[in-house]
Amino acid sequence: MVDNKPMKVEQLVKCSRELLGLELSTEAQRAFGLYAEQLLAWNQDINLTAITDPQSIEMRHFLDSLSVIMAGPLLPGQRVIDVGTGAGFPGLPLRLIYPQIELTLLEATAKKTRFLDHMTTLLGLNNVRILTARAEEAGQIDAHREKFDVVLARAVAQMPVLSEYLLPLCKVGGRCVALKGETAAAEVQRAENALRILGGRLEKIIPVELPQVAETHYLVIIQKTAATPPLYPRRAGMPTKRPLP
Ligand code: SAM
Repeated sequence: MVDNKPMKVEQLVKCSRELLGLELSTEAQRAFGLYAEQLLAWNQDINLTAITDPQSIEMRHFLDSLSVIMAGPLLPGQRVIDVGTGAGFPGLPLRLIYPQIELTLLEATAKKTRFLDHMTTLLGLNNVRILTARAEEAGQIDAHREKFDVVLARAVAQMPVLSEYLLPLCKVGGRCVALKGETAAAEVQRAENALRILGGRLEKIIPVELPQVAETHYLVIIQKTAATPPLYPRRAGMPTKRPLP
């Protein structure tokens, strides 16, 4: 029998414990190892990530995704959507430590959702839906509009545009968590009016210092306080072409 043990993720195990107080089970470690391997293998053919050094994958993809728990744990049965998830970040790593969430991974590019289909099948994950669609379309479909408790995004768009992608999907009383770099506070300031129009309110911005990563990352947490007017999101491309002022 071939002994095909997945890649070890020792840095991730250590840093999850130290930074987040999270003990990764043997099963989760194995899943992260397989995820890293498959990401690198598929990245030979389709452009999934510019990060190809295994330790950086552990820190900049996996640990960064898991840092969302600094905004509070995800609860069993919660409906969570990751908008513009690419190769699954931050949603898929979170699903590996919270098996009881109902996760939707939304991504516009079919090549990337093929990777997500492959990865979720390989890991035998249930409760994960993969949607090949744009956020502007999903936000106008009854099955998705204002249906999610938690709406996540990393590296998709600046806050004025991102707010129009995320808030229509979020239930009133739910929250959006955007993973941002150094421009977080300035972006939020520019999105103040968009947030008001779309039914959102800034709750807080949490700085995240990741080991082996020089720059500070930030979690921008937006509460959904009122229903989003039916006009939003506007048709595909409009939020980027004419961001809400
Ligand atoms: N979130 C992933 C990460 O942090 O690694 C991927 C980031 S990548 C820079 C941005 C992704 O968002 C791309 O895969 C792109 O196809 C997707 N995207 C951009 N605009 C989108 C939209 N309006 N609806 C759905 N996906 C979108």
